[in-house]
Amino acid sequence: MSETTNDKLLVEAIANGTVIDHIAPGQAMNILRLFNFLGKHNHITVGFNLRSSDMGYKDIIKISDVTFSPSETEQLAILAPDATVNSIQDFKVVDKYNLRLPSEIKGAFNCPNSNCITHVEKGATPRFRIFKDEGKVMMRCHYCERVFARKVVLSHNDLANIK
Ligand SMILES: [Zn+2]
Repeated sequence: MSETTNDKLLVEAIANGTVIDHIAPGQAMNILRLFNFLGKHNHITVGFNLRSSDMGYKDIIKISDVTFSPSETEQLAILAPDATVNSIQDFKVVDKYNLRLPSEIKGAFNCPNSNCITHVEKGATPRFRIFKDEGKVMMRCHYCERVFARKVVLSHNDLANIK
């Protein structure tokens, strides 16, 4: 089977839902885990390491009957800052947008610093400033002010350690 045919099979059309395209290779698994998609009953098609003319390789997720809220979109952008999100209704793309790295993220990820107050005080919602340093996504805790590479925060939150 050629890669082109493979691509077409993997990007099988969905009636209603969301297509997340141009995900960096490996991050599709993290997206499935972060949003607990495998624990729900939505129809999901995932392509790993598909050929991409602009990225080399990419992952893609098609999930039925899901739309992302603004805060979920920000969480998604932490994992896949270069992804494209397509909202599908009746097999048609009704909305399409590129993700952008948010400048701040609240609630989604716990701080890797075990002495951080967010681990002690229940009212303290984890919160990070997001920035890039030499192309790498960095996360700075609002409370303990420690700076972590994204992969450190992800692996602390039981997500795969992907560069
Ligand atoms: Zn902290």
